[in-house]
Amino acid sequence: MRRVLPLLLALACVSAAPPARPGFRIETLAPGVFAAIRTDPPGLMVDANCVFIVGEHDVLVVDAPEASAELIAALKRITRKPVRTLVNTHWHDDHVIGNATWRTAYPGIEFVAHPSLRTYLPTTGARNRAGMIEGAPGFAAYLQAQAAKGLDLDGKPISDEQRASVASDAALVAHYMRVVPGTPDVLPDTTVDRALTLQRASREVQVLALGRGHTASDLVVWLPRERIAIVGDLVVWPVPLVGGEQSHVHEWSAALEALLALEPRAIVPGHGPVLRDGAYVRQMQSLFDAIDTQVRAGFVPGDSLAAMRRRVDLASQRERFAGTSRVRGTLFDMYVAGPAVESAFRAAVSASPPAPRAPAPAGSASDPSR
Ligand SMILES: [Zn+2]
Repeated sequence: MRRVLPLLLALACVSAAPPARPGFRIETLAPGVFAAIRTDPPGLMVDANCVFIVGEHDVLVVDAPEASAELIAALKRITRKPVRTLVNTHWHDDHVIGNATWRTAYPGIEFVAHPSLRTYLPTTGARNRAGMIEGAPGFAAYLQAQAAKGLDLDGKPISDEQRASVASDAALVAHYMRVVPGTPDVLPDTTVDRALTLQRASREVQVLALGRGHTASDLVVWLPRERIAIVGDLVVWPVPLVGGEQSHVHEWSAALEALLALEPRAIVPGHGPVLRDGAYVRQMQSLFDAIDTQVRAGFVPGDSLAAMRRRVDLASQRERFAGTSRVRGTLFDMYVAGPAVESAFRAAVSASPPAPRAPAPAGSASDPSR
């Protein structure tokens, strides 16, 4: 009961959200390959992109965002062919929560994902979701209350860019609260820990684990003939999404190198527009390399994360990703600077040899010469 009241208050706040509706646009990337790209402005809340791969007989879908009901309606305007396969790029809610909706619409559908999804979704995923359901509406209401007073999150006068971002955040939270609570998890039928080739009539679809980065379960869907890579949150624009415990900053750059080695003609990120060259991916590599190098160079066994944070300088990287945008600056601080340094620090701690034991004082009980 103690947890119910805050939730009811939070839901009451959600009902005051603006009616602005989050959305997406459909882009044709190649014959039969359609990307549903989110059109929300950059913000703290996101829903994911989604891709439809329409073959001669059926459809393969990549990721199941929160807006899956709207995505199914959009797909049905493109084709009446059934969806037989859905690949989840990783276990975060904005990529998996729509699985149940897709299964209801297409009962014969099969789900493909990394094996760790089966472990993460019922544990860490369930805890994250409970936290979002309890906390996100109140946070969105706070952002809106600040905006109504003409202030941003830091109490400074709010800009038009920040105001649009807050409105988008509130709309996405309201949508999340409408579709997520009570939705059952749907775990993968087929798991991929390295590579799987799916032949769909004349089209080859590869599902590849290129290495750990955003999570330990990142999968990339690769269309070798079309040279299109659908990469989930391994790539996120305009600022990478990093989780301190969930991400692997010291390995992320290598996974991105493996992606670029495919020589993709188009990269569909988990969030952000379709990328037509490798420039942004290289920018992400430079960021992760800079963080990893600084953390490893400055690491002293027994060091604290707080001490490490004081030594890591990301000013030039922040400038490169955020420029003068205050929204992007906030995203960089929240989704890169904090968690990425933590992720690299965790890796440095686990790689460092245990500290040597202090020698026992001469003449003590543990002195073997006695
Ligand atoms: Zn994610």
